[in-house]
Amino acid sequence: MKKILVHICCAHCAAYTVEYWKGQGLEVGGYWYNPNIHPFTEHQQRLESVKKLAQETGLPLIIEPGYDMAEYFRRAAGHEEERCRQCFDLRLVMTAKAAKANGYDAFTTTLLISPHQKHELIKEIGEKAAGGKGVEFLYADLRKRYSDSRHITKPMELYRQQYCGCLYSELERYTEEKTAK
Ligand code: SF4
Repeated sequence: MKKILVHICCAHCAAYTVEYWKGQGLEVGGYWYNPNIHPFTEHQQRLESVKKLAQETGLPLIIEPGYDMAEYFRRAAGHEEERCRQCFDLRLVMTAKAAKANGYDAFTTTLLISPHQKHELIKEIGEKAAGGKGVEFLYADLRKRYSDSRHITKPMELYRQQYCGCLYSELERYTEEKTAK
């Protein structure tokens, strides 16, 4: 059976995404690497939710050690208008490498279920991240199932985030401030 490593941005986006790929006849594993989530305590809260989901659904989960916040800011600072491109690239290149290193045939990301993300950009960067690494990027437009995914996690009473992840997105969520992206 073909194996796919699913990059997980949060438990709520993962719930249906994992079901979807299982339904395609694939063996699914989860992968956590999100240095774009700030501050660290927020990162840990989202990670705890993902661990709980993985436990409740029997999903094997690889957690990348450490917290590469500095690398995220090295890429984003001074280039705020393209920070999402940098953010997707950072996370998806690591996912492709982890997929290869752990014997997976392919990888994808739960970001593809979110109507709030730059969907076409994720697809473009995922395909580029796969290049030359011997793993395939699998694409599906799951945006119509976004609310279904949230219904699956509702009874689990998991932490629900209020902003995308980075400090720029937090500022935009709570103020009228616009940081270019
Ligand atoms: S808004 Fe979201 S996708 Fe864009 S850089 Fe911030 S965390 Fe990453």
